[in-house]
Amino acid sequence: MSESVTRTDPRSTADLAEFVPAPLDGPGFRHRVLIVLRGEWPECPSCGVTFDDVQRLRVLNDRPVVCTTCGISSRPRAGTVLEGSTLTYGQFWIMYHLLAMGIQPEKIATLLSLSRGGVYEWRKRLQGVLI
Ligand SMILES: [Zn+2]
Repeated sequence: MSESVTRTDPRSTADLAEFVPAPLDGPGFRHRVLIVLRGEWPECPSCGVTFDDVQRLRVLNDRPVVCTTCGISSRPRAGTVLEGSTLTYGQFWIMYHLLAMGIQPEKIATLLSLSRGGVYEWRKRLQGVLI
């Protein structure tokens, strides 16, 4: 008995909606994105000292941190590509990977309820860092 194997275009988004978990702003995405952007042990963006365990948890929980060395307060997105962005961490994480896969911005915008122009801007901004 033989079955024909149907090969699908790996860039097809036909089934992507099934893989988008909700909520996109949950702690799983937040932790992954912040560790990628800030490192496993985040440093103070002002003086460069490595944050302690309590400060690290504040960063991973998307809370502002006051550096005990220099006294400067910083937000977890400060100094990263997400500084000033209103994207949720989940939107960013999924968009980043879909862009890296070569998925067209129009499809990503529809999938993540983002503006097409916004996704095009992100593709331009992330050029060179996309895996
Ligand atoms: Zn500092």
